[in-house]
Amino acid sequence: MQTKRLNSWLEKLAPDYPLMIAGPCSAETEEQVLKTARGLIDKRIQVFRAGVWKPRTRPGNFEGHGKKALPWLKKVKEETGMKIAIEIANAKHAGLALQYDIDIFWIGARTSVNPFAVQEIADAIKGSNKIILIKNPVNPDLSLWIGAVERFYKVGITKLGVIHRGFSSFRPGIYRNEPNWQIALDFKNRFPNIPMILDPSHICGRRDCIYDMAQMGLDLQYQGFMIEAHYNPEEAWSDAKQQVSPETLLQIIDRLCIRKQQFKDPQAIDKLAFYRSQIDRLDDELLKLLSERMQIAQEIGRIKKKRSVAVLQSNRWTEIIQKAVDKGRNLDLSEKFVNQIFKAIHQESIEKQERIFREK
Ligand code: PEP
Ligand code: MN
Repeated sequence: MQTKRLNSWLEKLAPDYPLMIAGPCSAETEEQVLKTARGLIDKRIQVFRAGVWKPRTRPGNFEGHGKKALPWLKKVKEETGMKIAIEIANAKHAGLALQYDIDIFWIGARTSVNPFAVQEIADAIKGSNKIILIKNPVNPDLSLWIGAVERFYKVGITKLGVIHRGFSSFRPGIYRNEPNWQIALDFKNRFPNIPMILDPSHICGRRDCIYDMAQMGLDLQYQGFMIEAHYNPEEAWSDAKQQVSPETLLQIIDRLCIRKQQFKDPQAIDKLAFYRSQIDRLDDELLKLLSERMQIAQEIGRIKKKRSVAVLQSNRWTEIIQKAVDKGRNLDLSEKFVNQIFKAIHQESIEKQERIFREK
């Protein structure tokens, strides 16, 4: 892919701020769409998003209003001047989106995994001048993501961008979708001219970490964001936990700090992201191990209770701490640090066991 001028659409759309695409997960009612859009009128938000066809994991949930919602979005555009973005997942959606003159089409994470669907959409929009944003596939497969972008590029679509929305994981973690920064940064290294947008909403899966995630995106030089916003997030018909109100989103934007880049060198930036992702993973592991350790301590508590043995076995404790300090020393961990950590762990174990003793 010769990607030289692929980002000129972005400079035009968002010359002064990072690109901000905001709006509800789904278009629920005309009133909800308009009320939310009115709250988002701000020069730093250029695009209004709303899902019209919703890919849901299980049937029976709200799957979007489809065509019926498209005139509502037209109203948003006329009233607010914002550009409109929707997700399309097949050629029929593409046809309707073109018919209703939607400005930006995004390909969802469940569609970019499927080369047949991506090709069908690419063929359906061939020759149009629309902006296409391709979300990373749900599985952490860089080639599949690149392949989806290539399919659009090959039919002549040049207003392209990608959205990093995190990857599914079979292990429960702190995020709904693991960021796997390294994959996104590898993409950025290979195609520096394709704008990369961060979707903190679908990575976090909860609103309380949207700000931190967006700041991380700015620090890693992402060029824009897609953030879910709803005038009444708690009552949203889909993704209620991760949506923020328009007021909260504006506060988040106020707090975001476009730092002077400490590292100009992209390799240093990549390295930093790589190490941070390792730290996140290790912290996750630490928490899981601690939880496992506490469960075992509780089992021991049950045995002690049955046999009427005291919770605190001080010789066992002295033995544990001495062993840990010795091992720690060999691992370049100070005695003070190992002592503090083990005291805290021991305290928590004792409290858990005492709770078992108190149980009737
Ligand atoms: C969405 O943006 O609402 C959506 C369904 O996203 P994803 O494809 O990232 O799950
Ligand atoms: Mn959503």
